Amino acid sequence: MAANNPPKKGGIFRAYLNFNVLYKILIGLVIGAIAGVILAANGVTSLPAWISMFGTIFTRLLKMIIIPMIVGSLVVGASSVSPATVGKVGIRIILIYLLTSAFGVIIGLLMGNIFQPHAELAQVTEMAADAAGKTAESNVWEVISNIIPTSVLTSLVNETVLQVIFFSLVFGLCLSYMKVSDDERIREIAHTTFNVFDCLAEIMMKVVRGIMQYAPIGVAVLICEVFAKNGAKVAGALLTVTIACFLGYIIHVVLVYGGLLKLYKIKIAPFFKEARTPFITAFVTRSSNGTLPTTMTAAENLGVDKEVYAFSLPLGATINMDGTAIYQGVCAFFLVMSCFNRGLTFGEMGMIVLLATLASIGTAGVPGAGAIMLAMVMQGINLPIAEGTILAGAYAMILGIDAILDMGRTALNVVGDLTCTCCVAKRLNYLKEDSLIK
Ligand code: ASP
Repeated sequence: MAANNPPKKGGIFRAYLNFNVLYKILIGLVIGAIAGVILAANGVTSLPAWISMFGTIFTRLLKMIIIPMIVGSLVVGASSVSPATVGKVGIRIILIYLLTSAFGVIIGLLMGNIFQPHAELAQVTEMAADAAGKTAESNVWEVISNIIPTSVLTSLVNETVLQVIFFSLVFGLCLSYMKVSDDERIREIAHTTFNVFDCLAEIMMKVVRGIMQYAPIGVAVLICEVFAKNGAKVAGALLTVTIACFLGYIIHVVLVYGGLLKLYKIKIAPFFKEARTPFITAFVTRSSNGTLPTTMTAAENLGVDKEVYAFSLPLGATINMDGTAIYQGVCAFFLVMSCFNRGLTFGEMGMIVLLATLASIGTAGVPGAGAIMLAMVMQGINLPIAEGTILAGAYAMILGIDAILDMGRTALNVVGDLTCTCCVAKRLNYLKEDSLIK
């Protein structure tokens, strides 16, 4: 059988496939950054369309798998857990996800207050305003009510992630009840349906592994574009935003995740050793959803019961966005300070905590999604990013460095999912004795 054939030796392609995927992606990142800097230094700010295409292919591939991946993993996740466990695990995990995200925004706002990042917006061009032309229309109440789809097919077709999640969870929960029905016919069809979704989830994992082989090329091109486009322009202000965000990410890891792990008496060193792979994967792919297979493997290696992580991690990849929350706090500060030459009022900060926590729930685990939600947060504090306004220009500047900020925030999002999962698993005795428990 073909599967038993030993791998052929030699050949660049074979060597490429055999080389560790994480190192490959990191190499792609470095090469892309260096090329971008060289291009910017020579006045080249954009890449030819045929080269750009390689970056676009990567982001499209990631987007392609999101909906089937969410459906497969959430239906399997929700229906793998016994009905009693879903109640127990579900409520706890959602609460801890929300709480850590709220902490994230507070840390982000603190970073904003300390670093006071702002730019001289006289320099912002109309061209920059174009990129931010989209006005955020939804408000916080709409975000909540919009979670429930009016048509499942429309949600799938429009890729409305939160609605797809909601329906997948409802579907999976019903399936879990059917699997333990007294009626044999119901049990049988439930098991068949479960197998179909289990197969879908497995197929998607395989597809992701394939996409990761392409990732180094996509990442190199995307990073090259970011560096070529931005060059040294407004580098100071954007550098401050970047430092404030990344410091916020680090503080969050140490205080919130370190604190939680300590509180739940989970050994910190082995946890972070295992969290390293999903961390790096998320950093380079900028997609919590794309990182799911590695996050799940890490949870498995950490001794978390599959009943918990198969449910909590796909959910967390979409609704738990602590890094995104920090980013919202810092960037809201940057936008207000740059455009109105003032900091945020307490009222605005309170509103931002609420909005950004909810926004992070509504943020899909895909590259750049957080930047779109930032527009919603600004709308919520009555500073809409309207076309042609100075605010739109400042927002466009943030979009310019979004790839860099997104790397850190996605890595944090993923480590947050894993931390909360381990804590809830520990609390409910779903963590194997010999792994992480002190
Ligand atoms: N890229 C992030 C994630 O996948 C979402 C965001 O843009 O903030 O978790």
